[in-house]
Amino acid sequence: MKNVLRKYVSGRVIAMSHFCFVQSKLFVVLLASLATGIACSAVTQEKESISHIDSKRAFEYAREVTALGPRYVGSDNHKKLERYIVDHLKGDQVEDDAFTANTVEGKFPMRNIIAKFPGSKDGIIVLLGHYDTVYPLRNSGFVGANDGGSSTGILLEYANQFRGKKRQGYSIWLVWTDGEEAMRHWSDTDSVYGARHLAEKWEKDGTLKKIKALMVMDMIADADLDIARNTKGAAWLLDLIYNAAQREGYQSHFFTQQGAIEDDHVPFFDRGVPCADIIDLDYGYNNVFWHSPQDTMDKLSPKSMQIVGDTIMESIQMLDQR
Ligand SMILES: [Zn+2]
Repeated sequence: MKNVLRKYVSGRVIAMSHFCFVQSKLFVVLLASLATGIACSAVTQEKESISHIDSKRAFEYAREVTALGPRYVGSDNHKKLERYIVDHLKGDQVEDDAFTANTVEGKFPMRNIIAKFPGSKDGIIVLLGHYDTVYPLRNSGFVGANDGGSSTGILLEYANQFRGKKRQGYSIWLVWTDGEEAMRHWSDTDSVYGARHLAEKWEKDGTLKKIKALMVMDMIADADLDIARNTKGAAWLLDLIYNAAQREGYQSHFFTQQGAIEDDHVPFFDRGVPCADIIDLDYGYNNVFWHSPQDTMDKLSPKSMQIVGDTIMESIQMLDQR
């Protein structure tokens, strides 16, 4: 993806001054908590009904995917990964969106993989992430643990969460997109090949109108998790996600930076779909691990996948109730 990211300085200052205020009022808060003990236990019970992802399992998927090696379009490892994803969706309603992409490096077979979990409500929530890794012209020795591996892994874990359950809410569609990465240099025509193909297809068949929210996950497992507020997105949906993070107590990992970032959501966003791109583009000092051979499993943490996974699960519940 391409980004214009800047530190959201005023946000940080506000957060810090708020923290000082809370500390000075700690004693009062403790007393208030004692007085409202019953209310607190009710909240705890409600929390237990909220689903949490199995982050160890999600992390393990990312590890296995990364162990395949580079997974750029046209490579054997890419084919192996397609099989790996589909094998983990046995018994699910899976749709293949295969097509030929005309790229600056020639024609390549590409394939979006879609798993559908029907719900009781009319409408669709789409969770989407790319499984390809950067094309070797730009990088050698790149295995994409965070960039490619983490998105593939967390989507496989979402499938576990929705499988075999009667959904009271919108249908959930999980999409593993292909060809997110540019073949040479990021541009409107050399990037997000799979997402562009799918957005066009869904526009023609009327699917786009049914989408209540589309959330992209990209580079979500950095141990030092810092999800940017991607201003190329629906403000109300970003606010809802932040609210969900607050409910889980994870808000310090969200939106301390903001900027306009181009990613898989753009072809859908440009067609009026409410989108949010969940991305951490602060990967290592000055983002040095991004698209580098340093993007390896040792930089990642299951805890970060837990934070993102739980926040998205919570966001889905909030969307269902809207
Ligand atoms: Zn990338």
